[in-house]
Order: sequence, then structure tokens, then C-alpha cells
Amino acid sequence: MKIDDLSITLFAWNDIPPHSYLGRGPFDPTGQPSRTGELGLVTIRTDDGIEGHSFLGMGTSLGAPALLRMLKPIVMGRDPLAREQLYQEMLERRLVVQPWVVGAVDVALWDIAGKAAGEPIHRLLGTYREKLPAYASSEQQPDVEAYVEQAQSYQAAGWQGYKIHPFRVWRDDIRICRAVREAVGNDFPLMLDSTWGYDYPQALRVGKVIEELDFEWYEDPLGDQDIYNYTKLRQQLRIPIMATEFPGAWYDSFAPWIHNRATDYLRGDVALKGGITGCLKAAHLAEGFGMNFEIHHGGNSLNNVAHLHLSAAIRNCEWFEVLLPAGAQKVGLVEDIEVDDEGYVHAPSGPGLGVEIDFDLIERNKTAEQR
Ligand SMILES: [Mg+2]
Repeated sequence: MKIDDLSITLFAWNDIPPHSYLGRGPFDPTGQPSRTGELGLVTIRTDDGIEGHSFLGMGTSLGAPALLRMLKPIVMGRDPLAREQLYQEMLERRLVVQPWVVGAVDVALWDIAGKAAGEPIHRLLGTYREKLPAYASSEQQPDVEAYVEQAQSYQAAGWQGYKIHPFRVWRDDIRICRAVREAVGNDFPLMLDSTWGYDYPQALRVGKVIEELDFEWYEDPLGDQDIYNYTKLRQQLRIPIMATEFPGAWYDSFAPWIHNRATDYLRGDVALKGGITGCLKAAHLAEGFGMNFEIHHGGNSLNNVAHLHLSAAIRNCEWFEVLLPAGAQKVGLVEDIEVDDEGYVHAPSGPGLGVEIDFDLIERNKTAEQR
């Protein structure tokens, strides 16, 4: 089997509701216009008719030329099942190609492998489980009460946890965390993702509070490269700290975090850490040090499906992140991932990624086809 074509269909992603995770201070979506984004459907075709797919997001119109110019020449005419060989060759272009671009090729190669074998990807990876608990991951809310209401609504719907993306104003963030904990009770898992919003003294103050409130983890309180202060912070707190979601990087970027004991958990996704292959390496690296590799949401529907397979195949990931609002995360599948009544998501059982792409929608919203 050889790869004989690679194309990218760019399509508009319409009516994305207003949302923010990073805006400093209360973000009020009221009156904000919805917007249009863009995704690219990557199709890698083989000479025996198998097609592998992925969605290229994160600045699609920038990534598509890099993919076609730098990575397509590597994979054309090659055996799609020689993933590690192709991955290592793609990494040789790491100075000019971002992890999310390599990730898009890698996910499509895994899709081909699963279809060729007639198995879902998680079985090729080595199935560990077929379902795992989901947590609702908030967008920024306009006020404390809105966080409380949102947390209670997901708790009532049977979800297993709730993560706060707060205002990134430390005193206010403590108010949010206290109010939500008070509302949902002591037994409902909560996480805080401060999205790189604090300096060291602020991070320590907030961390001590959510430690007392028995949060599951404390995510990205400090700058994404601030290993020095993470190391200090971790020495002061008992709550697990989770850094390394950013920057987009390769699996060897985790080494200084482990070496410096700067984080308790590692974090990644197929876009920011170079595909299923990159994440699998990182997850196994983490396992060797007794650390969790908690998988980040993927920013689009097909990346999230890839994450379902990945998290079904590793032991050291406890949660599946469902980022809100759904309208800003879900597009392009006939049936997207849904959380069941008991708060679990289930790994697909069909070959490859195992989900049906909505080709009609993509065709209707197509803006360009590139080869
Ligand atoms: Mg995060």
C-alpha cells in the first residue's frame, strides 16, 4: 500500500458563538457577534482506495501551505503504515513546521492504519478501556453566579466533573472557586485552569485556597515556560499541578519539566504535541515517572475523536475534557461525541477514527481545495 494523493479542503465554520478563555476580567458574551472560523479536511489517499482524514485547525490557512509544501513530499509514494519512519522524517522539518501541522498528517495516517486493519485506532494502540469520565470545561462566564449555575447544571446532568476557566484576576478567581465548591458539595470533582494568568505570589495564594477546597488539579497558573517558578510553587503545594499544555512543542519538550520536578501531570493534545504519535510518546514518558498525561481538548471534532482513542489506550489519563460552549468546539461530524447519562464518553468501535464525517456540510461551506 502506498500513498498516492494528499489534499486539503478548506471550509468555513459558521456561527461560532462568542466565547473566551483568556480575556482578563469578566467576559460578557452578551451582544458579541458570532464569528466564522475555518477548518481544513485533510485527506490522505492510498493506491488501494483507503482514505485517512483529519481536521487541520489553529490557523488553517497558514497551516495548509506548510503541510502541502513541507510534509506532502515526505509522505507521497510511501507506505502509510510506516508511521514512525514518516514521523521522524516530518520531525526533521520541525524548524519550519508546527506540531499541529504534523499532527494533522499523523492523525490521518492512524485513520488509514485502522481502516486497513478493520479496527478502531484504540485497538491498534492497545486498548486499556473503552470509556472514561468527562468533565465540563467552562468558557469564561460574566460573573460568579454564572459559574455556579453552569457547574450545577452539568452536575445535575450527570457529568463527572467541572473545570473553571476563571477571570484570571486572582482575588475574584478565589471567589469563583469558593462559590462553586459551596454549590456542588464536597464530592463533586472540580479543577481550576488559570490559563497562565498569575505571577508567583498570586499563584501561591490561589493554589492554597483550592488545595483546601480539594480541587482535583491546578492547571497552568504561571507562564507556560516558567519552569523556575513552577518548581518553587510545586514545593509549596500539595494539590497536583498541571503545566505543559502550551507551548505547541514536541515530546522531548517535557524533559526539563520532569527533570526539574516542575509539574505533577503532563498535558498535551494531538494538535499542540504533534499527533497521536507525539502524544503517545509523551504519555508513556509520563507513565515511566508515575505521572498522569491528561489529554487536552483538541479544538475541533475530529481531534477530539482522536483523543478518545488515545485516552482509551493509556492508563495514565483520568479525564476527557469537553470544552464549552459546544458550538465553538463541534463541527463536521454527522454525530459528534456525546456524554452519556452517567458522565462517560465512549471510544468509537468503527475502523480508524470510527466516526462519520459530514462531507455534505464540508462541501456546502467549502472555500478552497488545495493539493
Ligand atoms: Mg488548559
